[in-house]
Amino acid sequence: MDRIEFDPTVHVETGWAPECPICGQRADVYKRKIDPTDVFEGWCDRCGGNVRITESAVQEAEAAGKRHVLTSWMRRLSLDARQQTVKREDVARALRDSPSYSVLEKLDIALSVLADMTSFPGYPSSFDFMRDYPLFYAVGEDEAAFYVQELKRRGFLEGALPAVKVLAAGYEHLATIQKSGWQSNQVFVAMWFDVSMRLTYDSAIEPAIREAGYKPLRLDRHEHVNRIDDEIIAQIRRSRFMVADLTGQRQGVYYEAGFVAGLGRNVIWMCRKEQLQDVHFDNRQFNFIDYESESEAKTRLYNRILAIEGEGPKVQKELK
Ligand SMILES: [Zn+2]
Repeated sequence: MDRIEFDPTVHVETGWAPECPICGQRADVYKRKIDPTDVFEGWCDRCGGNVRITESAVQEAEAAGKRHVLTSWMRRLSLDARQQTVKREDVARALRDSPSYSVLEKLDIALSVLADMTSFPGYPSSFDFMRDYPLFYAVGEDEAAFYVQELKRRGFLEGALPAVKVLAAGYEHLATIQKSGWQSNQVFVAMWFDVSMRLTYDSAIEPAIREAGYKPLRLDRHEHVNRIDDEIIAQIRRSRFMVADLTGQRQGVYYEAGFVAGLGRNVIWMCRKEQLQDVHFDNRQFNFIDYESESEAKTRLYNRILAIEGEGPKVQKELK
């Protein structure tokens, strides 16, 4: 997708440097003056590239005091999802589904981002506070700087940005996290992102996970599933276990579930009963939750989570 550029026939001219309504910082994002007129569009590095969002969607995040959460979410959007205009209901879902990490978890996330942005061990990380703080799930540069400072204090990093390096102790710490399983409350949900599955997610999977004390994470709900990118892999690593619904037989779900199993973490398998015969024979040996209704799916998933993982750290009420 080409970069959205300023076009005087389409966009409102601003007398000052334009800013991105999502992250609130200087970026080439403009308001449309022709239909649809309630849309901001343009390019923002912090928000991950092209952005196109309605005014009411921005207000939804602003009213919740969570523009930074929206920025992090925008940053994680796939290229496919970026083609579409982000609307108010997308933001409401994003705010609900976005993980809320503790300070210690954010320190680990920061370390893994810095390592991911390092081309070779011993080279400086290409992380940039101004552009990349949303990757730390930070409110802004100051919070991001705090994590870098603390990681240095722990002996995981050396140097100062833009030449910060991950040390062997840092890589060792990352390896420990990845092996032992992330002790977070996040649960990765892999499923077919189709309207026919919406009720299954909203009435069964999501509430079952929450009531068991965990927090579900679905990466943007309007993506194409046959592709697994770095963000999905990073989020899977950060998740304690996975709920994989094979209804619809999406390749991506098999792939993601295989990745989780390879990390030695639990996968809870689900599928609509009438489609169970379509499940790949290698997977049929697993103990499937084969459900006929949403309420059945919810009860059985809830019980299975408690059976396999136990009750999770109670999800704290999100700050409004
Ligand atoms: Zn932005």
